[in-house]
Amino acid sequence: MSTILNDIKNSFVSIIKGLKVTAVNWSVLRPCVTELYPEQKPQLPEAYRGMPTLPVRPETGRSDCIACGACARMCPEQIITVEVDKTDPKDRKPAKFTIDISRCMFCGLCMEVCPKGCLKPARTFELACLSREGMIYDLEKLNKLGGELPPLPEPDDEKSSSNK
Ligand code: SF4
Ligand code: SF4
Repeated sequence: MSTILNDIKNSFVSIIKGLKVTAVNWSVLRPCVTELYPEQKPQLPEAYRGMPTLPVRPETGRSDCIACGACARMCPEQIITVEVDKTDPKDRKPAKFTIDISRCMFCGLCMEVCPKGCLKPARTFELACLSREGMIYDLEKLNKLGGELPPLPEPDDEKSSSNK
């Protein structure tokens, strides 16, 4: 008889404990920590560093890349391909520039080594697509994702800021 009573008491205590956990974690009492993605886009932190892109310089209508190949040599994944455009020896630019983003680990080494500082991290993480080929970003896609660089300061602006 005492065993039955003990069992009833233990069951009652377990139910109370369970209800206590539910009450403590009830969403009305605790702030919501999940996001309704994709309807709700997450707020990216200020220092978020995504895939490398090649933003366009508005004055020239293209990126500042001089096709030196330093990024391709530095990339630990060896996923960057650069070919020089040899049409004008005085105007060095890439004829072909691709990054296979499917293997990019966002290490940022290519951006660090670029002598022109023209590779910039994208502020996006939505890179999924339906084919492997779609993950290979060419010059046009890298320019588009990178957007436009801010215009270069006028010589007068530069002088006044250096005098401050
Ligand atoms: S971020 Fe790293 S892995 Fe990605 S392309 Fe640049 S160097 Fe290669
Ligand atoms: S390191 Fe910079 S300038 Fe050189 S090829 Fe790469 S992106 Fe272009």
